[in-house]
Amino acid sequence: MQENGRILAGVFTRVKPQAKPGVSTLQLAEIALEEIRAVGAESAFLGYRGFPGAICISLNEEVVHGIPSPNRIMRQGDLVKIDMGIMRNGFYADMAETLYLGEDIPPETARLLATTKKALAAGICNCIAGQTLGKISQSIQQVIETESLSVVKRFVGHGIGRSLHEKPPVPNFGPSHRGPRLEIGMVLAIEPIATFGSPEVAIKQDGWTAVTADGALSAHFEHTVAISAKGPVILTSTCHAGQEGL
Ligand code: MG
Repeated sequence: MQENGRILAGVFTRVKPQAKPGVSTLQLAEIALEEIRAVGAESAFLGYRGFPGAICISLNEEVVHGIPSPNRIMRQGDLVKIDMGIMRNGFYADMAETLYLGEDIPPETARLLATTKKALAAGICNCIAGQTLGKISQSIQQVIETESLSVVKRFVGHGIGRSLHEKPPVPNFGPSHRGPRLEIGMVLAIEPIATFGSPEVAIKQDGWTAVTADGALSAHFEHTVAISAKGPVILTSTCHAGQEGL
């Protein structure tokens, strides 16, 4: 899983710069699929419960599960959420990032991104054996709500391993005492989603794409994280220096 995480992070790094104005979300997904196959992996999302895309690309008020489309052209000023999962040698890895297309990011948008990223970092820091899973949830909620933003509660993180979505669910909210105790060897996909205003979401006619009900921007960041004896290890990272002894 560590190897797969590193591979996925590498693919992500190569795909990200291809998200630019004038490119359709389908073109970006095709680039991603080519990269995924080039490293001997499969898209974890393509065909998952019938999902038609190789990756999820959600723009602006779209929250998650955006279907790549030839008609959806990315533009300057778009907030692009890329969510990518791979399967290789029977194991899964999952990660997501939100990018702003353009130089001059509006301060409020920058705050949304920074806060969601910070919430992910807080969640990861609580991936400690012996602690309850609720510590992850509570720390994420606290970071987001301290900035007067809302947690989108409809979607949660998850265990990951031989399946893309395994138990336990990892909510981005709730009290610290809730959930199972974390154990060495568990691997979790931690994925906070934050928005301005209302946390309510709606599903578009395509049956997949979730949008904020009030049309506000949302942000999503995700890492696959292992709980080790030495503490949390971000598997979806291109740098695993010092983590060889896991
Ligand atoms: Mg996930």
